[in-house]
Amino acid sequence: MADMDNTAIQRAADLIEDADALVVAAGAGMGIDSGLPDFRGPGGFWAAHPALGRRGLEFYEVASPRTFETDPALAWGFYGHRLGLYRHTAPHAGFGIVKGWGARMFQGCRVFTSNVDGQFQRAGFSDDVITECHGSIHHLQCSRPCCGDLWSSEDFAPAVDDETCTLLNAPPKCPWCGAIARPNIMMFNDMGWVDRRSKVQEASLRRWLGEAMRIVVIELGAGTAIPSVRHFSHELVVNHGARLVRINPREQSVPTQRDVPIAGPALAALQTIATVLAGRR
Ligand SMILES: [Zn+2]
Repeated sequence: MADMDNTAIQRAADLIEDADALVVAAGAGMGIDSGLPDFRGPGGFWAAHPALGRRGLEFYEVASPRTFETDPALAWGFYGHRLGLYRHTAPHAGFGIVKGWGARMFQGCRVFTSNVDGQFQRAGFSDDVITECHGSIHHLQCSRPCCGDLWSSEDFAPAVDDETCTLLNAPPKCPWCGAIARPNIMMFNDMGWVDRRSKVQEASLRRWLGEAMRIVVIELGAGTAIPSVRHFSHELVVNHGARLVRINPREQSVPTQRDVPIAGPALAALQTIATVLAGRR
C-alpha cells in the first residue's frame, strides 16, 4: 500500500485508538471490494446492466416508482437482479475489521449507510446498530402505497432474464390491497417511499449519539453525487465534536484540518490501518 499517505494512515490509527465510539458511514464505494457495482463509478450504470444500456435507459428512469406502474417486469427485472446479487455476495474483510474496532470501544459502534444491500447485516452487524437512510432491498412495501406496512422480501425468489433485464415470474403483491409490491428503497422522484423503518433506525442512532463521547467517524466510499452520508458525517463533526476519517479513492477532501483524508479504496485502506494498529500492540 505504498501509494497511500503514511502520515494519514498513522493519524487515522491514532483517532481509532483514542475514540470511545465508532460510527461507520458507508456509501456505494464500500461494496466495490466485495464485487458489487457502483453505478456512479468508472463504467457506471450501463456497465453493470448492459441490457439497459442497449435500450438507452438511465438509472433514474429505471429506479423510479413510475416504472412499477408502466413496466413492472422491467422494474422487477432490475431490482430482482440486484436482490439476487446482494443475497449471494459475501461482504469483504473490511466489514470485519471495522466491526472488530467497534467491539473494542467503550460505547461500541453504529452504522449509517445509504446502501440498500444489507451487507452490514450479512457481515454480522446487529440490525439494531444499523441505519439504512435510503431503505433496504430486503424489505418490501406496497407500490401505491395503501398503508405503511413493510414485510421481508425473503419469500420472493426473482427469476430474471439478464439479457433483457426482465422478470420472468410473478412479482410480489401487497398482501393488503393486491397491488404490485416494490422494494422499500427511496427511488428517484419517489413520493411513495415508506420511510418508517429508516426513521425508527435513525431515532435509535440519535439516542446513542446523545450519550456517545469521543466519536470517530470512518466514512467509506461515500461520494458527493448522493450526499446523504457525507452530510451525516459533517453533521457529527459540527454537532458532536466527532473526528472524521474519510476513505475515498476520488473525493477524499475533508471539512477541517482535524479530519483525516485517505485516498484509496475501502478494503485496502482499512487493512493498512489495521496493520498499523496491530504493530502498536
Ligand atoms: Zn397495498
